[in-house]
Amino acid sequence: MVLFSTTPIIAIVVVPLYGYHYGFDTFEWIVFISLMVFCGMSITAGYHRLWSHKTYRAHPILRVIFALGGACALQNDILHWVSDHRRHHQFVDNNEKDPYSAKRGFWFSHIGWILRNYQSGREDLSNVKDLSSDTVVVFQHKHYLKLAVATNIGLPYILGLIHGDVLGCLLLGGVLRLVLSQHCTYLINSAAHIWGRQPYSKASTARDNPLLALLTYGEGYHNYHHTFQWDYRNGNRWWHYDPTKWLIRSLSIVGLTKELKTCSAARVETAQLETQYLQAAYNCKLLEVSEAWQKCLEDEYNQFLQVLKTWSEHRQEFFEKRKFSNLDKLEKLELLKRNKELSTRLKGHRRRWAQMVGSLGHPTLVIS
Ligand SMILES: [Zn+2]
Ligand SMILES: [Zn+2]
Repeated sequence: MVLFSTTPIIAIVVVPLYGYHYGFDTFEWIVFISLMVFCGMSITAGYHRLWSHKTYRAHPILRVIFALGGACALQNDILHWVSDHRRHHQFVDNNEKDPYSAKRGFWFSHIGWILRNYQSGREDLSNVKDLSSDTVVVFQHKHYLKLAVATNIGLPYILGLIHGDVLGCLLLGGVLRLVLSQHCTYLINSAAHIWGRQPYSKASTARDNPLLALLTYGEGYHNYHHTFQWDYRNGNRWWHYDPTKWLIRSLSIVGLTKELKTCSAARVETAQLETQYLQAAYNCKLLEVSEAWQKCLEDEYNQFLQVLKTWSEHRQEFFEKRKFSNLDKLEKLELLKRNKELSTRLKGHRRRWAQMVGSLGHPTLVIS
């Protein structure tokens, strides 16, 4: 309570006052940004995608860096963070069991759940037994307080000594960085469960919000993440702003990460299609659309789904054959021809589906 109430006050009152009277120079801003990224990425790439969801494997050196960055972010040790987060996924939106259930409101899911002892937040580390064999996790758990003090006070203090302005470094690299990095992470538990789109599943309150992705190193694609939590990406398209995904991918080139898990494009599209169909069927009932039209929608949905499945199986067969056997020219041409055929059929289905679903947004077009 003391920590979470005093640090924001210092960040809001003392930091601007100090800046006004003495100013902050480039070195201090570089310290601030570097520590922001260090803490933020340690939480997203380390605590979240590595330890909570095991979406990839990381070299011990990288795990040590993430463990230090996590201590610097002051969001509890890996074991507790991961335990809470796994329960969040398992019991999402269940007010009794989800430690930061968004159904209890913005304040509770943002920070309220940390400020008081709630039944939903009681300690239960039975879901993180797999991490007890990770020596980095165990070491961080044992020495968490010392590491938190060393990274939050010691590190900016030493940098300040080198630079010649200890207070300036402590205020920017210590306090302001701590408050901002914590609240950016908390936005995922609160805002990303309230505002945004739900293209992959409406089973939970999780939403995709590209604006939040900008503040959280790519974690804003939260609807995708809750639907495919084993995927190392949160922004699944190449153009989605997800620096955590880019970091993990880049580190795989130099061997610091490996076994990156992804969800196939066909599976992602199937999830999208299912969500759109459920919404469209609901809209049909709401708009009292004729039964014949509803049947049309259902038929198109089933055909689209079937072609998607065939296309996915064909692609898998193609890649496997290319990988494990020497395809002769004729066989390769056959496979490519079939792939082209299926892709053309898919395009047709995509176009028809978009028209059908789109027309439900204009009731006058569909009520006959
Ligand atoms: Zn997660
Ligand atoms: Zn969530």
